[in-house]
Amino acid sequence: MNQIENGTVFGAPTELEITHAAEINRRMPGLEKVRYTVTGTEACMFAVRLARAYNGRRKIAKFEGAYHGTGEFASISVHPHIPDASRNRRVPAADTAGLPPESLENTVILPFNNLEAVESIVRRNSKELACIIIEPVMRGVPPKSDFLKFLRELADQFEIVLIFDEVITGFRISAGGAQEHYKVRPDITTMGKIIGGGFPVGAVGGLDEIMSLMAHQSVKFPAPQGPKVPHAGTFNAHPITLAAGLAALRELDQGSYEKLNSLGAKLREGLAEVSYSKGATTQITGIGSLFNIEFTERETSDNRSATADLTLRRCLDLYLLNRGIYLPPTHFGCVSTVSTEGHVDETINIISEGLELLKPLARQS
Ligand code: PMP
Repeated sequence: MNQIENGTVFGAPTELEITHAAEINRRMPGLEKVRYTVTGTEACMFAVRLARAYNGRRKIAKFEGAYHGTGEFASISVHPHIPDASRNRRVPAADTAGLPPESLENTVILPFNNLEAVESIVRRNSKELACIIIEPVMRGVPPKSDFLKFLRELADQFEIVLIFDEVITGFRISAGGAQEHYKVRPDITTMGKIIGGGFPVGAVGGLDEIMSLMAHQSVKFPAPQGPKVPHAGTFNAHPITLAAGLAALRELDQGSYEKLNSLGAKLREGLAEVSYSKGATTQITGIGSLFNIEFTERETSDNRSATADLTLRRCLDLYLLNRGIYLPPTHFGCVSTVSTEGHVDETINIISEGLELLKPLARQS
């Protein structure tokens, strides 16, 4: 409220962004510099542009099924239609409209959690790859042990910039996000959501030598060391957002992570138990406060195994809606700071009833 009285938009830097960035840096020490955007989409766009500016290469490697907002590179192979014939191939797929062919040519698609395939694809493209961008927990599916460490080593070996998109995981699975939890430091990190306390926000941060390539560039006063990645925007580092974000980050430090993570674990365990008792073929995925229920026999390890039977999941989502529970349709969800043990128990019970009703449908599929 105080910030509303102090001013809602200046179109210029404020002290708040220094304070906020210091709070981020305290939790993620690898972020030596931070710049704010209005959305996670922009943060991811800037991250790949910084990587390209840093090593002068043109290609971007992203994981099949990963979501990094709606920028051009990010719109490729998010929901690829995968005909059986290409099951083992990872071809960049334009599953959205309006992409020029160059976007596809400049994008390399990697399979999540598949060390061997990732290594061979990266090696093949290594000279042209500017960066590898990854959701460290992809759409709610955690990385296999040492997958992120392996990526770090691979990126170092070929001097590729490693970007963690922590828009979901940052300040959620732990104060320091996935990079703290899995003890792997990326070169660049993108953030969003939580750092704005519910207001529109995104941020990109990382190594000083990469972040210093970004500047508010003026045609009248070009940068003395040559062109920079231009960064300007009327609503960047919006004071209301940053004031709310600071409050949220500080509040989360007051024991929220322990509570969120134990509620998340209780929910996942409960869902696994009721699935088993109802004879439902599901995989319950997630980590920390994140959870998902996938109708598949196979262990969920990547995008393909995670999208096995969407019909059953859609039916469950509809049933839950009618019972007053809104799960993001066919998507992972999370418990939040206002969730209680009672909410979790109720959710497990209602999902159990939903699974009972789905039994005849499950038998047909
Ligand atoms: N990256 C990830 C991992 C996301 O989940 C999202 C949004 N859900 C984005 C980027 C894009 O963020 P925004 O919606 O703020 O543009």
